Amino acid sequence: MDTRISFLLHDDPTAREARELLSRCVHCGFCTATCPTYQLLGDELDGPRGRLYLIRQLLETGKTSTGTRQHLDRCLLCRSCETTCPSGVNYHRLLHIGRHLSGALQSPPLSQRLRNALLRGLLPYPKRLGAALGVARLVRPLLPAGIRGKIPSRRADARLKSYSSHPRKILLFQGCVQSAVARDINDATRRVLDRLDIECLTVARERCCGAVHHHLDAEKQARKFARHNIDQWLPLLQEGAEALLVTATACALEIQEYPQLFDKDPAYQQKATELLQHCQEIGSFLFQQDTGKLKLATPHPLALHMPCTQQHGLRSADKVIELLSRLGFDLRLPDDNHLCCGSAGTYSLQQPRLAGKLRQNKLQALEQTGAEIIASANIGCLLHLGEKSRLPVKHWIQWLDEFS
Ligand code: SF4
Ligand code: SF4
Repeated sequence: MDTRISFLLHDDPTAREARELLSRCVHCGFCTATCPTYQLLGDELDGPRGRLYLIRQLLETGKTSTGTRQHLDRCLLCRSCETTCPSGVNYHRLLHIGRHLSGALQSPPLSQRLRNALLRGLLPYPKRLGAALGVARLVRPLLPAGIRGKIPSRRADARLKSYSSHPRKILLFQGCVQSAVARDINDATRRVLDRLDIECLTVARERCCGAVHHHLDAEKQARKFARHNIDQWLPLLQEGAEALLVTATACALEIQEYPQLFDKDPAYQQKATELLQHCQEIGSFLFQQDTGKLKLATPHPLALHMPCTQQHGLRSADKVIELLSRLGFDLRLPDDNHLCCGSAGTYSLQQPRLAGKLRQNKLQALEQTGAEIIASANIGCLLHLGEKSRLPVKHWIQWLDEFS
């Protein structure tokens, strides 16, 4: 896709970066067929190729419009199009640039700016989020139905236990939203690894991985979180902790892409690259271990929702499928396995109508597998699906902890 940048954007380095990235696109349109928003809305401009045309138009005219912003905002950033694209177009980076330039050229509506500021100020901070949820639970009956459903119930930490010390030690990333609303995922991970004689250490001063800010076009703040976390984790890994383990696939993907956040800071880019050698998502980590002790006594049917961040971002879906089958689950994948459930970071809060429709389709496909329980590996998907599912939805590490 050839692009001539408008003189209005000539000095903007991200515009030049976008032009380079766009040049790989050969307009074939293969990506359109696997795009969830195109499938729902049937409009080329709500598919990847159409959005790339809009970004090119923005670069060439130095102008945006309400329509352009809406089409770009409806993208889930699920990266299904990247898996399909034969030319290796870095679509997600282009969309980030497109949204950023569009927002800089024409300010989004006040309501949208306030909502995004609220999300940025709340979600990455477990204490604030926990306090806000506590208040929301008290006034739940007074809230509109759409918000009421999004408040997770308080869960008892019933199965906590003390853990043994082991020579093998890993750092367990707690996650911001996860540690506020689903702490049992981290506890289940500790219990499972304890049985493999691996001790989980936690880093009290770690912060959000930065994914929330990244989603909300606040790259500077995402970089700040990343820099802080690198300074916390790297010395412990250099001292001998075996790995940095992440149980939420969206966080694992954000950390995997830390080096790209520091393309203008070589010192931190080097540190981020060193961190990557130690960072693993829980599925890929267990895949490499001797998991004989964890094998289920009898096969258990399990419907698996594969997060987009796992299959289209980390590209580690095969390992998780092989691991869970090896552990003795009778694994059932839905027919629409490659499609997003609608959670997509903060998307379900920003585009509730589309997110709700995608969830409805996904739950139907998961139920059609005939399994009585659902698993996933990302806190956003778990909360989003769990809000409306008839069947229980948990992280697969929790099901493994329960059944093995
Ligand atoms: S990231 Fe997902 S929603 Fe966005 S264009 Fe690509 S396939 Fe469609
Ligand atoms: S599949 Fe790739 S090359 Fe083809 S239109 Fe989509 S982004 Fe462009």
